[in-house]
Amino acid sequence: MFELPEYLTIAKQMNKSISGKTVLSGVMGNSPHKFVWYNQNPQTFSRIVNGKTIGDAYCKGRWLFIPLEPGYVLVLGECGGKIILVDSNNVPSKYHLLLNIEGNKSIYAMTQMWGAMELYRKGEELKRQYIADMRTTPLDKEFTYKYFKSLIDEARSEKKRSVKSLLTQDQLIPGLGNSIAQDILFNARLHPKTQIEVLSEEEIMTLYKSIKETVNDAAKNDGRNDEYDFYGNLGKYERVLDSKSIERGCPVCKSKIEKIQYLGGSSYYCSKCQVLKK
Ligand SMILES: [Zn+2]
Repeated sequence: MFELPEYLTIAKQMNKSISGKTVLSGVMGNSPHKFVWYNQNPQTFSRIVNGKTIGDAYCKGRWLFIPLEPGYVLVLGECGGKIILVDSNNVPSKYHLLLNIEGNKSIYAMTQMWGAMELYRKGEELKRQYIADMRTTPLDKEFTYKYFKSLIDEARSEKKRSVKSLLTQDQLIPGLGNSIAQDILFNARLHPKTQIEVLSEEEIMTLYKSIKETVNDAAKNDGRNDEYDFYGNLGKYERVLDSKSIERGCPVCKSKIEKIQYLGGSSYYCSKCQVLKK
């Protein structure tokens, strides 16, 4: 699944390569499955996008916004898979969304598990569930330490929650998924199951810095090296912890990397650097 760094990368690359281009035609998908969320019928979609000009894309959390001017915004949300620019004669036979644009280029999107591919009149997208109520994301300037502290205080008062839950559940910090959360927790030297109520002030600060730095690092490197960017290349961000780190051992202390199933997916952590704090 794309997480915030991958969406940032795609938006940046779109703005370099297709901003200002005209859409010649659009197809809402020839290989639909029920977990691709559309909000238009195929004919309406094609009619609206024809002749529109692509504006500057931007993202918020795991949602990518592509203005189609005048008057519309294409929204690709919570996708994982491919959002790729190709020569128009290289479009794959199956896709969930296709835009043919001037210069013999096409953009196609395929999502692996689920994802929104929706077209809104400009402004209407802000009313959509998950967008309307989205909290501050880690690279927003409002994501200050003070904000992060207040988020933790709020989360502590609601229910018991671990640091992995803080990072990946209930959209408390939009844009983070299992993969980047794992590296954030390693960089902060926190075990995924550490409860937020036992965190010291210093640990909260360390976690805050780790969120900002890890997300920034992955974004600067064009996303993770197991996800495709807009040009069809893999990102250059090397994950600190992934399935291969079981063999490699901890990059810092060489100790054994443990794997647990926890909160909807595998979690890897170093048995020595990330001791469970009680
Ligand atoms: Zn270690």
